[in-house]
Amino acid sequence: MNAYIQRVIDETKKKNPNEPEFLQTVEEVLSSLSPVIDAHPEYEKACLLERMVEPERTVEFRVTWMDDNGQYHVNRGYRVQYNAALGPYKGGLRFDPSVNLSIVKFLGFEQVYKDALTGLPIGGAKGGCDFDPRGKSDAEVMRFCQAFMTELYRHIGQDIDCPAGDLGCGGREIGYLYGQYRRLVGAAEFGAVSGKAVCTGGSILRPEATGFGAVYYLCEVLKHDGEEIKGKRIAMSGYGNVGWGIMKKAAELGAKVVYFAGPDGYIHDPDGVDTEEKLNYILEMRAKDPMHCQPYAEKFGCEFVAGKKCWGVKDVDIYMPAATQNDVNLDWAKKIAESGVKYYIEVANMPTTNEALEFLKEQKHIIVAPSKAVNAGGVSVSELEMAQNAERLYWTAEEVDAKLKGIMKNIYASSVEVAERYGLGYDLVAGANIAGFQKVADAMMAQGIF
Ligand code: GLU
Repeated sequence: MNAYIQRVIDETKKKNPNEPEFLQTVEEVLSSLSPVIDAHPEYEKACLLERMVEPERTVEFRVTWMDDNGQYHVNRGYRVQYNAALGPYKGGLRFDPSVNLSIVKFLGFEQVYKDALTGLPIGGAKGGCDFDPRGKSDAEVMRFCQAFMTELYRHIGQDIDCPAGDLGCGGREIGYLYGQYRRLVGAAEFGAVSGKAVCTGGSILRPEATGFGAVYYLCEVLKHDGEEIKGKRIAMSGYGNVGWGIMKKAAELGAKVVYFAGPDGYIHDPDGVDTEEKLNYILEMRAKDPMHCQPYAEKFGCEFVAGKKCWGVKDVDIYMPAATQNDVNLDWAKKIAESGVKYYIEVANMPTTNEALEFLKEQKHIIVAPSKAVNAGGVSVSELEMAQNAERLYWTAEEVDAKLKGIMKNIYASSVEVAERYGLGYDLVAGANIAGFQKVADAMMAQGIF
């Protein structure tokens, strides 16, 4: 590895000893940049990597809200505004008990390069709170969101930072967050929050965008092999917004999600989740209880395997981890390699541990696609939402879908082109890291050193 990169990784570890997820992503991204850092000695003089690993700004704040019994609760909120060299900060808010500074920094760091890859003018940020929306009433979620935004609003804005959703922060939460923002600033400043409902300035297709984009990217990978998506069988983890979008688009294009895993175990539906009834049932099931997918098996008479992940099953063509970080460790990666399945398409942010990712990349029979490229359709349509808001109009579903498709094709093509240009061959992981990095690097070098 390039000595400058190694030094920055070592220094980052020393500076942030209690942030394992953040260090994991820094190591993953930086370690694939050797060819481009070798080619640009001026980056070291400009302390480019040292500046890139340090967020431009981190805000931590208290969120106090009242439950339905009149009891107060105190949570910790975050917004890490990582890098705005390419445009206003952009990235989601995660509401989950696991949220801490390390998680938000890892997501923010990833977001910078993901947002750059889209080719759209957006910087990277991430935020969240250690609040658990599960089991809370609508009124409790509303009071929490209002309390959260009452602090966050002073740090965001349509030209400053535009948060959106992530785990635990869906359409309902975004509605309450945007409503409180509008109330506080006294203006319909739509572009300050994305993922809004269409009736309140949102973009058509935003809820489906990440899943649809992931399938469009997958189609490009298959095309490269002279294959098509029709008839392909998919095993995935997660059936949230993103997973659901994958199921829907896959079904539309003649592929089938035949395995999907949730927190309680996995479902095996050999017919595939490919009817409107099944897709609608998943939405209902999730709204009632996001922790259990077993009811799907009972309803549709298929197999449920309690407490297990579906990695390693053989009767599929494609794996798509779409749940959360570090879902696939080295043991699972070995099972995946043994299964003989050719396509490993990451969807969730950092779903693979670094050692598992390295192992999978070494397997000659497996093609690995990285999440920061595969899941970039969501943030892309968020940016399209900002553009529609700036123009004060709505685009049709066809317009948004066509733009999304074009963006996903470009992300794939630029990753392939860059990896080849640097002599790395067909390496979608390094290609995405380098292509995203190059855009941010050019903008930072052009803007002077600070
Ligand atoms: N949380 C999503 C992501 O990781 C969406 C971010 C956004 O739309 O700003 O890309």
